[in-house]
Amino acid sequence: MKKYGLWIAGREVYPKGRKTFVSLNPTNKRAVASFCSGSETDVNTAVAVAHQAQKKWAALPAPQRGEVLLEVARLLRRRKQQLGRLVSTEMGKILSEGLGDVQEAIDIFEYMAGEGRRLFGHTTPSELRSKFCCTMRRPLGVVGLITPWNFPMAIPAWKLAPALVCGNAVVLKPASDTPLCAYELVKTCEEAGIPPGVINMVTGSGDEVGAHIIRHEKLAGISFTGSRVVGEFVAANAGLKRVGLELGGKNAIIIMDDADLDLALEGVLFGAFGTAGQRCTAASRVIVSKEVKDEFEEMLVKRAERLRLGDPLKESTDIGPLINENAVKKTHRYTEIGKKEHAKLVTGGYALPEKGGFFYKPTVFTNVKPHMRIAQEEIFGPSVSLMKVNDVREAIRVCNGIEYGLSSAIYTNDIQKAFTAIEHIEAGITYVNASTIGAEVHLPFGGIKKTGNGTREAGILGVEEFSEVKTVYIDYSGKLQKAQIDVDKRK
Ligand code: NAP
Repeated sequence: MKKYGLWIAGREVYPKGRKTFVSLNPTNKRAVASFCSGSETDVNTAVAVAHQAQKKWAALPAPQRGEVLLEVARLLRRRKQQLGRLVSTEMGKILSEGLGDVQEAIDIFEYMAGEGRRLFGHTTPSELRSKFCCTMRRPLGVVGLITPWNFPMAIPAWKLAPALVCGNAVVLKPASDTPLCAYELVKTCEEAGIPPGVINMVTGSGDEVGAHIIRHEKLAGISFTGSRVVGEFVAANAGLKRVGLELGGKNAIIIMDDADLDLALEGVLFGAFGTAGQRCTAASRVIVSKEVKDEFEEMLVKRAERLRLGDPLKESTDIGPLINENAVKKTHRYTEIGKKEHAKLVTGGYALPEKGGFFYKPTVFTNVKPHMRIAQEEIFGPSVSLMKVNDVREAIRVCNGIEYGLSSAIYTNDIQKAFTAIEHIEAGITYVNASTIGAEVHLPFGGIKKTGNGTREAGILGVEEFSEVKTVYIDYSGKLQKAQIDVDKRK
């Protein structure tokens, strides 16, 4: 098994005395790679190196930074097959999704390369004569990026690309379950021409490396994607840094009585069981009109039972394993909670240890009441709760009756119901006649309520998290002009 060090100043380093940890293939529990458990000292070194490198990187004209990002996209595209297989091996999602993970990284680097020629500010008239006013974007400086394992290449890329095009340097701490994916991404960036020291990666535990990054006084910003619990820790400990938080979800698909049920079924299967339910945008609640609830339930159970679990690299596999033993235990804990709450378990509800990896049978609960814990809390496994409602108003009330607000979907052919849902659903994203999954990189991504703190990643808003706005006034009148004060002279 190959042993990897930390990535600091453009090379791999193995500081003396550090312990190591191993990332596992969740399909068979075999070790994929061994990584160095970084320390607070290593974070300090990485931050200092990043500060040195950032100034030169920021001095490069933004269009030239964009050109380097485009080269990253080109290299990723060339390596897509190899990297997609790595994602599936280290994280466990099926190969088509592993390739999709890499494609998201390619897309965001391509999109943000274009930002190098935009990075728009505003111009606006002055209240005074012969005076020009505008805003421009400046980098934050050095930022800390902390990422989860469920999109092991896409999420680091979603943060790296905008941070870099804005002229920042970074210290990245990837999830301990998927460090090799992040390592390969960082190496690709450097091969494409990102200068040494601009990207530094310190692997190691969230409690030590992650927490030190969050509190580090020399970091100007933190971009965090992960659980709500850790997100709240970030919010409480980051001080006055710019903080971006992308946290959990408890997303619902609403199915109205006029919906195309076959289409809705495909959306629910993909939303609930794709990536084994381990997406922040996964559909873990299905809210169905009473007229079609029984029919839809039967259709869903039949198809859920036919889903093939197995090796994510095999084309015949529909669902891969969960990420680790804890994820299996957590999913099962919620199965037990659902049963105790008197929801009706109609299929699944058990682990499959005989398969050798962290597999859990796709699980469907019905007769679920909106207040039940299985309908309120993020499970992050292949478990979905069906709830019956009378009409679109009740559906929206149930949809909104949770603490999170990330993604949502409605299946209907009635334009009034569709627009009522778009207007009233409390979520950062609403799909009509499509599943809760399917973000495209040129649109903003993020949630409301306890899904985060309102930042948006990707799209035209993606650079806001990583840039300051500077306001510029240029007075070419040749005399002292006073805003507000000279206003009476104009009369
Ligand atoms: P997590 O446990 O919160 O971990 C996320 C990252 O934070 C990991 O790198 C982790 O390191 C690190 N970390 C853990 N404790 C920390 C601490 N005290 N201080 C600083 N960093 C710390 O989340 P996860 O299990 O990896 O990911 C699943 C969660 O992410 C779900 O809730 C999902 O909804 C959410 N998510 C949200 C989005 C979104 O865009 N809204 C996207 C994807 C996932 P270790 O790996 O070393 O523990």
